[in-house]
Amino acid sequence: MQQAEIGLIGLAVMGSNLALNIAEKGNRIAVFNRSPDKTRTFYAEAGALQDRIVPCESLEAFVAAIRPPRPVIIMVKAGDPVDELIATLRNYLSEGDIIIDAGNANFRDTIARFKGLEGSGLTFIGMGVSGGEEGARHGPSIMVGGTEESWKRVEPVLTSIAAKYKDDPCVAWLGENGAGHFVKTIHNGIEYADMQMIAEIYGLLRDGLGYSAKACSEVFSLWNTRRLNSYLIEISETVLAATDPVTGQAMVDVIVDKAGQKGTGKWSAIEALNLGIPATAIEAAVAARSLSSFKTKRMDAEAILGLPGTGRIAGDADAFVADLELALLAGKIGAYAQGFAVMAEASREFGWSLPMPTIARIWRAGCIIRSQFLDEITSAFTAMPDADNLIVTPAFAAMVQETDGALRRVVASAALAGLPVPALASALAYFDTYRRGRGTANLIQAQRDFFGAHGFDRIDGLDKHHGPWGSGLADF
Ligand code: NAP
Repeated sequence: MQQAEIGLIGLAVMGSNLALNIAEKGNRIAVFNRSPDKTRTFYAEAGALQDRIVPCESLEAFVAAIRPPRPVIIMVKAGDPVDELIATLRNYLSEGDIIIDAGNANFRDTIARFKGLEGSGLTFIGMGVSGGEEGARHGPSIMVGGTEESWKRVEPVLTSIAAKYKDDPCVAWLGENGAGHFVKTIHNGIEYADMQMIAEIYGLLRDGLGYSAKACSEVFSLWNTRRLNSYLIEISETVLAATDPVTGQAMVDVIVDKAGQKGTGKWSAIEALNLGIPATAIEAAVAARSLSSFKTKRMDAEAILGLPGTGRIAGDADAFVADLELALLAGKIGAYAQGFAVMAEASREFGWSLPMPTIARIWRAGCIIRSQFLDEITSAFTAMPDADNLIVTPAFAAMVQETDGALRRVVASAALAGLPVPALASALAYFDTYRRGRGTANLIQAQRDFFGAHGFDRIDGLDKHHGPWGSGLADF
């Protein structure tokens, strides 16, 4: 019998959809799941794709079914199960075989797993997969980290299953070891910021202008035909238009204002802090989700403190909505600029040579943050791959200049109305700080020298590095 091109272990939501996608694109695939009943059900429901699927109930049979060197995707519960499975697979696989972790791993674990297999003859790929269940089934965005040789072995299959942006497959090899999972993490961090900014805009429409959910949906619907065209705006339009079958009210109005998080947003913020690269929009979004979960505490605080400000946006509502569209664009620029800056620094720190234009290119379809905007980022980084920051590329510098006035008016109006816009405000503060040649850290330098004799640099370059603070610290 013809051997399978690839194997996959873990037939829960993500694994089974990915396996069907692989088979549908003409690849023969061997599958295995710890509990064999899932393998049987999966195969029974595979319909016409059964011809290309080899269901296996033992690891011996699974390994024998795949053409060496064997690529084996593992799509199991993140964390310890991945390490347990790798330990088991070492007993079955042979020289040159490739274990591919397609789950949501922390890139530091991926680096450790990659190193753990060194010298064993096996290699490891950490593969970030974005797009959820639907993406896995019909075309995800795929971010690959591993050796170039192992990538070459899996490239044809992965190219066949990836999402396509105008025929361009959204998959790429991004570098060694943890590169793929790192980029996936930052993708998710940007996703947090993007979702938070959309929610803040929704809050201004709902509370500041008194718009119904349906009216908010109509605003997003219009924006989705223009520069903000994106999956997240599209689904916001759809959910805001939905009606609750139980009460007949707008669906969003019966949903509790508490959002969960699984950890990739927090990982992005932690790594940004570790690298010393500001990712304030991502941090604001993670903090906003945490604050959202304090529902009872927020209700208690409102009873004690009352609501601040006027509560309403004053002035011409239509002009304000026009500002909101530009403000969201500006906010997104800030969030993406920060995410890409974090990746650029991580690339230096971990020796990955992350290709910025390629990352933007493979996020244009398949993943949750897919958008027209990412096509513009692709062009900007293609023209200037080593730009210090997205906002200093000619195209985005022009966009910042065009939109930041609206962002400023929106943030100022929100502050006066007492409506929280932490991610949008952080993007504005980021632009205002990043573009200001003379800041205020001279005072911080002086303070640090005063209490800690940390010294400072002088603008005239003189070799006098302590101030006349009147203590034993001064060298004047
Ligand atoms: P999951 O619920 O995270 O995991 C269930 C699968 O893991 C089952 O196949 C289970 O086998 C297997 N498993 C658990 N412990 C195991 C062990 N010790 N040894 C072998 N197999 C073990 O599945 P999922 O939701 O499909 O997610 C898979 C991965 O994709 C995760 O890393 C997740 O974070 C990531 N991801 C998920 C989504 C999503 O939308 N769900 C999106 C992107 C990424 P049994 O059937 O035998 O229990």
